[in-house]
Amino acid sequence: MKAVVYHGQEDFRVENVDDPTLLAPTDAIVRTLRTAICGSDLHFWHAPSREVPPFTVGHEVLGIVEDVGSDVRRVKKGDRVIVSCTTGCGLCQMCAHDAWGACEKTADAGMWTNIFGNPLLPGGQAEGIRVPFADTNLWVLPESIEDERAIFLSDILPTGFMGADLADIQVGDVVVIFGSGPVGVFAQRSAALFGPSAIVAVDLDDERLAKAAGRGCVTVNPTKQDLKEVVANLTNGRGADCAIEAVGSVQLVNDCIDIVRAGGRVSVIGVILEDPIQIPMMGGMMGKNLTLRGGMVEPQKYIPRLLPMIEQARLDPTEIITHRLPLDRAIDGYRIFANHEENVLKVVLEP
Ligand SMILES: [Zn+2]
Ligand SMILES: [Zn+2]
Repeated sequence: MKAVVYHGQEDFRVENVDDPTLLAPTDAIVRTLRTAICGSDLHFWHAPSREVPPFTVGHEVLGIVEDVGSDVRRVKKGDRVIVSCTTGCGLCQMCAHDAWGACEKTADAGMWTNIFGNPLLPGGQAEGIRVPFADTNLWVLPESIEDERAIFLSDILPTGFMGADLADIQVGDVVVIFGSGPVGVFAQRSAALFGPSAIVAVDLDDERLAKAAGRGCVTVNPTKQDLKEVVANLTNGRGADCAIEAVGSVQLVNDCIDIVRAGGRVSVIGVILEDPIQIPMMGGMMGKNLTLRGGMVEPQKYIPRLLPMIEQARLDPTEIITHRLPLDRAIDGYRIFANHEENVLKVVLEP
């Protein structure tokens, strides 16, 4: 089958690889209908080449179940399903605690090895994919939800929602969201579901901000406006009730800590590879009694809550799609996305 294969820095290739096969009785094989390029795929794209064998990339997948192992019960051949980007076994203590990313079975080789698109778990930018623990990591989609409305349930819609959830938004809150990229858009939409009095969208890109304004956000381009002043005006000088970091920047984590009021909450969903990072304690976390939460997405926790929101049209995730390309042209998609060309926000691939 055709797949997008990692060979090194800025060297992904569409080439033929072996078809996926069932390796365990709990596996399923899914034939891909839609897949998408994620900001976190760009980390692989940009990172210095690693000494690993070529592997299929991608972790956002929707498709049709083509085959199931003998122990699979919840899904069957022919079902149209969304694939969770992170795989869990559904049985261990970590899965029971909704800490799916740390599943004792699927992540036993180390952090991130249970996210599709790594040398140990081939990804979904391909014509097909093997999904371990299919009963836990696949959701059957109702006929009423078209492919494009469902595809982002794999990762970035739950990620954006998790940003709002971890920020513990209360009715009447003023929420600041840094980043108006694909995840930031979904964080804005999700935050609105919790009943805030204002959502302040912060980004450097005026076109993205214009769209955020269309979603009802107060918009701030910090190179042109003073974010602190805008938030002070909205809160009688108190500061924001909570802030969400949806970019992946150490500076913006610090900006979140700075912009929230005493007792405020900070939620970090942007991927920060730098470790460790510096944040203020007495001048921030302790001095202001803040709560800081963050993490990699747990789709298994959020997909069941978000599916009905899409079904009832309370969320329309298709708003972020700017490019639709055949899988054959995936590398063009990567270049466009990596270079921020053509006002790209999200590239969807069709095998
Ligand atoms: Zn993703
Ligand atoms: Zn588990």
